[in-house]
Amino acid sequence: RPLTILTNAAESIANGDYDQKLYFPQQDELGILAQSFNHMSREMAERVRQLQASGDRLSTVLEGMVEGVIAINERQHVLFANESAGRLLFFSPEAAEGKALFESVRNHQLQKSVTEVLKTLEPQRMEVELESTSDRILGVTTTPLPGTPCPGLVIVLFDMTELRRLESLRQEFVANVSHELKTPLSSIKAYTETLIRGAMDDPEINKTFLLRIEEQADRLHQLILDLISLASIESGNQVFDIISIELKPFVESCLVDQQKVAESKQIELIIEEKDPGIKVKADEEGLHQILGNLINNAIKYTPDQGRITIRWQLDKRNMVLLQVQDTGIGIEEKHLARLFERFFRVDKARSRELGGTGLGLSIVKHLVQSFKGTIGVNSKVGEGSTFSVRLPRG
Ligand code: ADP
Repeated sequence: RPLTILTNAAESIANGDYDQKLYFPQQDELGILAQSFNHMSREMAERVRQLQASGDRLSTVLEGMVEGVIAINERQHVLFANESAGRLLFFSPEAAEGKALFESVRNHQLQKSVTEVLKTLEPQRMEVELESTSDRILGVTTTPLPGTPCPGLVIVLFDMTELRRLESLRQEFVANVSHELKTPLSSIKAYTETLIRGAMDDPEINKTFLLRIEEQADRLHQLILDLISLASIESGNQVFDIISIELKPFVESCLVDQQKVAESKQIELIIEEKDPGIKVKADEEGLHQILGNLINNAIKYTPDQGRITIRWQLDKRNMVLLQVQDTGIGIEEKHLARLFERFFRVDKARSRELGGTGLGLSIVKHLVQSFKGTIGVNSKVGEGSTFSVRLPRG
């Protein structure tokens, strides 16, 4: 009878029921066997629980990963694939399990790498471009699983699209900066050389040349100031002193700086205060830079005898809407989306001639965002442009 009980209990354990307890009262060999059996089943229950917990932990980690992970066997059938792998390679991990990987994922580069790694057993790193479905660039690491013969391999995928995009933006930026620095420097060099080669003895010419040199040096100086300003705002290291600023006296003081240039072009500067006494929350120097840049652009890109209106009011969401409107040349619709990019200019030659660096609006945008505001633009060619800044109410 005890042997039958023992056999049944062992069967139950084999079927996954580890809660088996035997009770043989006698202290003979059967009694000792029952105690050993109970000890064994307790230990097994604990081991299975630990295994399960570790399995759960592992799958939580794998599912929570941003990187895609796929494990395949030596016949390239999927043993496991996490959600991220499915998202990155556009397949369903559940549906793919147990099936050949390249039935679900059609990518020649990846397939070639997997076949090679299975043959050579050497890990491989590479970049895969997914052109047909999107413009994604994936970094892929393929590593053989340990064991002889090799039981399969693990593929780890990570999205490098943003990284590559930023890299190309950086390269473009460096190319732009170098070009912008080179142009005025070449002029300065040309004028100086001409002066040295004899032009300095001609009082008419030397004055003109020196003025041109000064003009180009000013451009270089402005460009460097703008670059420093942009870098410090973008790095987030610039400390802003956010206070409540009453708009009317502030705008009036900003206009004083611009009045002279406006008068020289007979441009009228108008203030329209729709809700009196409004205050905004911003840093004084930053707000000065925002308004200064927008008004300066408005003057630059408005022909003589135009009109520039600076108005503000509360919008529906209790933000302060501050607008700078001009009756200038306007901007074509197709350029509006890129207007706030660094170095973007509708007409490069014209902007340079007017002393522009192409950085003004990107500085303005970054400042506005640092003050938790937004900026937008409306424009019609030949009629004028309106730049709208929304800032928190002070
Ligand atoms: P820039 O130093 O060239 O003025 P910005 O970043 O301030 O650089 O402006 C980028 C470009 O946006 C300008 O080159 C110009 O083409 C266009 N732009 C900016 N403000 C206006 C405006 N008020 N009217 C027409 N075009 C404008």
